[in-house]
Amino acid sequence: MIHCDYFCDVSINHIKNIMEISEIKTRLTLAQVLHYYHLKPDKNLRLCCPFHDDKTPSLQLYYKTHTAYCFSSNCKTHGKSMDVIDFIMNKENCTKHEALKKATEMITGEGLKAAPPADRLTTLHKIFTYFKNGVVNSQPAKAYIQKRHLNTDTIDIGFNSGQFHYKQNDAAEAMQEYLNIGLLLELGVMSRFGKPAYKPFGKHCIVFALRDQEKRVVSLYFRSMSDDKSQRHFYLKDRQGLYPKYPRENTQNSSSRRASSMPLRSSNSI
Ligand SMILES: [Zn+2]
Repeated sequence: MIHCDYFCDVSINHIKNIMEISEIKTRLTLAQVLHYYHLKPDKNLRLCCPFHDDKTPSLQLYYKTHTAYCFSSNCKTHGKSMDVIDFIMNKENCTKHEALKKATEMITGEGLKAAPPADRLTTLHKIFTYFKNGVVNSQPAKAYIQKRHLNTDTIDIGFNSGQFHYKQNDAAEAMQEYLNIGLLLELGVMSRFGKPAYKPFGKHCIVFALRDQEKRVVSLYFRSMSDDKSQRHFYLKDRQGLYPKYPRENTQNSSSRRASSMPLRSSNSI
């Protein structure tokens, strides 16, 4: 039965590398796919669509069926319900075969290991989430946001009370990462507890995320709430990313400066 062995081998290899569509669909959740791409839906399970230039969340997610649907007619996916495989195909701009491979990697964990978010990205994502929660607890921040007519439903806004490092006092790794990123500045003196004293960057500022093409938070922009003209805008060192997001690939850049170093302003004056 040479032929049988031959075909069995091929089949086993095939399963090892790429799962069947039916297996992928039962094992891979939409939430896992979103997590993999660092996409976080709002409370209505909507997302700014990653497949077209989307200002308000047009992509509706359906966790029961593990499908997504973009309601914008500007979108290449409009009119079609996407399952997890379609989602990966669109996100990676790849063939179905490649999407199945990627999906298999996501299930087996190989893909997740192959694309770990860098420490910097993880820290920035966490700290920006922390800053966003900070708005809720700060009356001055809420008043300022209202005064500037910034809509927190459509714009991610944070507030830095300057206390983010206190709860982390024992987590040496987190402190080191804050220093690396520039969220903490060393004062060069010892605190009264005998530890190095730090100054938080952008204290009492409103915070906006600067994002890369994948919509990941790659840097932060701090806006002072005071109207001191000389000191209103603060960027973390190694400034990168754009606010609120990257423009479309075919956007013409008339400036000679590199696009990645140029913050994109929304129609709201910040
Ligand atoms: Zn779309």
